[in-house]
Amino acid sequence: MSNETIFSKIIRREIPADIVYQDERVTAFRDIHPQAPTHILIIPNKIIPSVNDITPEDEGVLGHLFVVAQIIAAQEGIAENGYRLMVNCGRHGHQEVFHLHLHLLGGRDLGPMLAR
Ligand code: 5GP
Repeated sequence: MSNETIFSKIIRREIPADIVYQDERVTAFRDIHPQAPTHILIIPNKIIPSVNDITPEDEGVLGHLFVVAQIIAAQEGIAENGYRLMVNCGRHGHQEVFHLHLHLLGGRDLGPMLAR
C-alpha cells in the first residue's frame, strides 16, 4: 500500500505549489492556507508519515529540515524577529497530512504557543 499523499505530487512538481526551496533531501513550499504572513511547510522528500514513524536512519534528514528552516527564515527576512517551528502528530495533534512536515511560521508576533 502506498503511503503517498498530496505532498508527494508537490515534491515531483506534478501539481502546483509555491516551492521556495528544494534539494535532494527536502522540499519547502508555502502553505495553501497560511496562518501567518510567512507559513512554509518543510518536508523530507522521503515519505515518513508522522513522528511516530521516524527511525534512527532518519536522523540526518530530520536535522537537515532544521538547517533548511534556518536558511528560509533568513530568506524571508524573519530570522531576527523570530519565528515558530511546529510539527503536528496524529489525532490529538490535529495532523491532516500524513507526510511529516515542519511548519515555519513568522512575520508577526505569534502569541503564546497554546490557548490558555
Ligand atoms: P497538519 O495539520 O497536517 O500539520 O498541516 C497540514 C498543512 O498542509 C495545513 O496547514 C494545510 O493548509 C496544508 N496543505 C494541505 N494540502 C495542501 C496543498 O495541497 N498544498 C499546500 N501548499 N498546502 C497544503
